[in-house]
Amino acid sequence: MPPPDADVSLEAPTIERDDLLVLGPDAFFEDAVAVVTGAGSGIGQATALALAANDLDVIGLDIDTDGLAETSELFESMDLEGTHHEVACDLTDEADIEEAIETAADVGPVRYLANIAGMQHIASIATFPMERYDLLMDVMVRAPWYLTQCIWPHLADAAGVIANMSSIHGHVATREKGAYITAKHALNGLTKAIAAEGDGVIRGFTVSVGYVLTPLMVDQIASTAEARGTSERGVIEDVMLGPAQTKRMMTPAEVANLFVFGLSAHGEHLNGGDLLWDGGFTTTYE
Ligand code: NAD
Repeated sequence: MPPPDADVSLEAPTIERDDLLVLGPDAFFEDAVAVVTGAGSGIGQATALALAANDLDVIGLDIDTDGLAETSELFESMDLEGTHHEVACDLTDEADIEEAIETAADVGPVRYLANIAGMQHIASIATFPMERYDLLMDVMVRAPWYLTQCIWPHLADAAGVIANMSSIHGHVATREKGAYITAKHALNGLTKAIAAEGDGVIRGFTVSVGYVLTPLMVDQIASTAEARGTSERGVIEDVMLGPAQTKRMMTPAEVANLFVFGLSAHGEHLNGGDLLWDGGFTTTYE
């Protein structure tokens, strides 16, 4: 780990097999299928690979088919135990979601869902374009809700787990991310509702992290700098890492490993709760 004042690299790291947490033989339901959204990039891609490394059959959903192909290439090059199935899916389209769950059920018993896909738009509440607000809510709240609804009967058959990608922005607010903050808080609510209705048979949990080296994060630096009238370096040091005590951004694989642990049998008592891995961002003041 670099010292606290180390220069911050903005390159998304290459993912290696050794980065992925692999648990023991009884950690997951046998022959289980896991549906992962956003599997074509960043955290979703790393999670798809990490679950495949744990011998699960992974159904990778994304609107970005090139990204999904890249995930399959990585899967092949790492020689992972499970499988990766590319499913082109626009999460704003109900029919696509229904078809994706049918495809998953054809592969085997569906037991896990990881809602990871997301987007960002930087603008103040006063100027936020409503069509961007609606799109963001559709992708980040409505789709996880509808996927949960569609997958529920499969999980209720035996048991299952739904993991939702939240954020430090599911805990605290910063400027110019109002829609994203609203979406992440909504996802926390959905997660608790899953726990309440899951009767101990279906579990739900969230994963909350600070800034992670992915395209979504790197792409927002310039617009945040413009919105705040500061430099890109200022955004990284003051906005992204400033409030955290751990002065290093997480990698997608490190976040994926939280999904692996939480979805596994080791997460049995994690129900409606949150894996908050934020380097002290929300828990410290100075
Ligand atoms: P990313 O941009 O690398 O990946 C997001 C993926 O979602 C992309 O592959 C994109 O194609 C997919 N997607 C977007 N709209 C879609 C749609 N309509 N249908 C299907 N797929 C769609 O982003 P990431 O950084 O890996 O983010 C993944 C999740 O992690 C998001 O929910 C994000 O809010 C959350 N998160 C990210 C960070 C960070 O710093 N990167 C921090 C906390 C939380």
